Order: sequence, then C-alpha cells, then structure tokens
Amino acid sequence: MRLTGNRIVVAVIVGLAVLSANFLTILFPTPAASQRPPSVNEYAAHVGNARIVPAGGLVLDGNRLICGRRPTVLDPSLDDYGAAYPGFLILNPKLITRVPTAVKLWIYSHECGHQFRGPSEELADCFAVQRGRRQGWLTTDGLEQICKFIRPAKRSSMHFSGPERCEFMRQCYAENKVR
Ligand SMILES: [Zn+2]
Repeated sequence: MRLTGNRIVVAVIVGLAVLSANFLTILFPTPAASQRPPSVNEYAAHVGNARIVPAGGLVLDGNRLICGRRPTVLDPSLDDYGAAYPGFLILNPKLITRVPTAVKLWIYSHECGHQFRGPSEELADCFAVQRGRRQGWLTTDGLEQICKFIRPAKRSSMHFSGPERCEFMRQCYAENKVR
C-alpha cells in the first residue's frame, strides 16, 4: 500500500507475502519520510469504513486484547490481516475471523510487537509467541496452527520464508530469555 499525492504517504512497508497477499504489514516510516505517520483518527478518516476500538476494548473469541494504551482500528479495506503504525494497530475484521483463535491472538500480538520492537518481523514474531506463552493463550498446538498459517509465505529480500519464521518462533517459544 503506497499512497501518494494528498493521501497518506508511507515510506516503508515491511510485511510478508502470503498467498500473494500482503500479510502482517508494518507501516513505520523511515527517517527518509518527510511526513509524519498518521494519527489513529487521521487513518480512520482516510480509509472511511473503519471503526476505532479504544485500548482495552478489543475482544476476539472471548480474549481481551491489550497493547498498552494503543487503540485498534478495524479496517475491512486493509489488504492484510493486520498492520501497525506507531501508536495504533490495525486489523482487518473480515480476514481475522477466518483464522483459529491462537492465530488471531498471534496476529494482534505481532502487530503489538512492532510497537515495542520496531520494524523487525523476526522480533515481532518472537515478541508475540513469548507473550502468548506468558499469558497462557499459546500452547505448542497453537504454535503449530501459526506455523501452518504462515507456511505458504515465500522468502523475499526483506523477509524470511514462512517455514524459517516458524523455526525461529519455535526457538523463541522455548527460550526463557525475553527478546
Ligand atoms: Zn510484521
């Protein structure tokens, strides 16, 4: 998603291609971007048919999802399952309903991981699975559901393949050291 003109300009999108769609996009600007990232209200106004869920208000499959004080935008037009700008998270409510609970919570936590760990996909993945283990919602069975979900992802110049990411997440999940 690269928008130009008077629309929101995003310099770098770090994501992962799954089944030819973008996946878990991160929308952090680089220093080269002259424009600041949008506020949550600016983003929601820009995309139109979106709903802002305040921090603490998001519940998926009975699980209340928290990422500090950050709100979540439910954007059915997002070309991905989830995305993040500094200060808020974005989920596609149509896509996210299609995946198992552990995958839903992992996607949210991955985007939350970008808030604390920056644009690295690997660190966001690790953040998400370690958080899931600590909070008790991610079992080894759930981790296998996540691996199945990302398996089709191809390796690109910026990203590891789905199986490589899965292997790294298995290591993170088994480690006590927080990355
Ligand atoms: Zn990501």
